[in-house]
Amino acid sequence: VTDDVDVAANLDLVLDQINQAELSAGRPTGAARLVAVSKTQPVEAIRPALAAGHRLYGENRVQEAQAKWPELKAEFPDARLHLIGPLQTNKVKQAVALFDAIQTLDRPKLAKAIATEIARSGKEIDCFIEINVGEEEQKAGIAPQEADAFIAMCRDDLALPIMGLMCIPPAAAEPAPYFALLAKIAERNELAEISMGMSADYETAIEFGASLVRVGTAIFGPRRPRPD
Ligand SMILES: *Cc1c(COP(=O)(O)O)cnc(C)c1O
Repeated sequence: VTDDVDVAANLDLVLDQINQAELSAGRPTGAARLVAVSKTQPVEAIRPALAAGHRLYGENRVQEAQAKWPELKAEFPDARLHLIGPLQTNKVKQAVALFDAIQTLDRPKLAKAIATEIARSGKEIDCFIEINVGEEEQKAGIAPQEADAFIAMCRDDLALPIMGLMCIPPAAAEPAPYFALLAKIAERNELAEISMGMSADYETAIEFGASLVRVGTAIFGPRRPRPD
């Protein structure tokens, strides 16, 4: 099923380049952790990465993750799963049950729904607020100038465990200024986790302070057609 993609070798290479990027940025080894983005990939493609010892993964759809991860988590109980795609309020219950972190908190209604579900279920889950760093009309996320107030509301009014911020910079632009902006918002709000950087630009993201990079195709090869 994995065709000619050597997932374990790719994983090694990406982890190596993360180390190199940390080194050249003068950051400690391990400062940037890898979220292996396994969206659209079948469980057979994910298993080699798990077998190689990698434990942190990202999926962008609740339903797809539900179809794949209960069996993988049963096999690898210390695997951790982050939601990196948009979350509808009617899927909050399932998302809180399955994921260890939600990186895409992007509106008050969703924040309230997650807070309610955490209180109801007693499940612990880390939250990241998505910032629309490029202020793009079509993109999810809180506008940079509204970030401080939204973070405060989530922490103070809803008591949500806000661990950090995430962003997806504009596709065509040089990402560095957007990475710098996200790091600045995180710093002034005393948030330790900064989720930014994908296959094409994770080394740059590490240079600008990423604590989590989200890498898919560089590990698993091209995305597959969705099973649905
Ligand atoms: C798919 C995805 C990634 C990984 O993208 P690649 O270019 O395949 O590395 C990272 N972040 C988010 C939010 C994604 O949806």
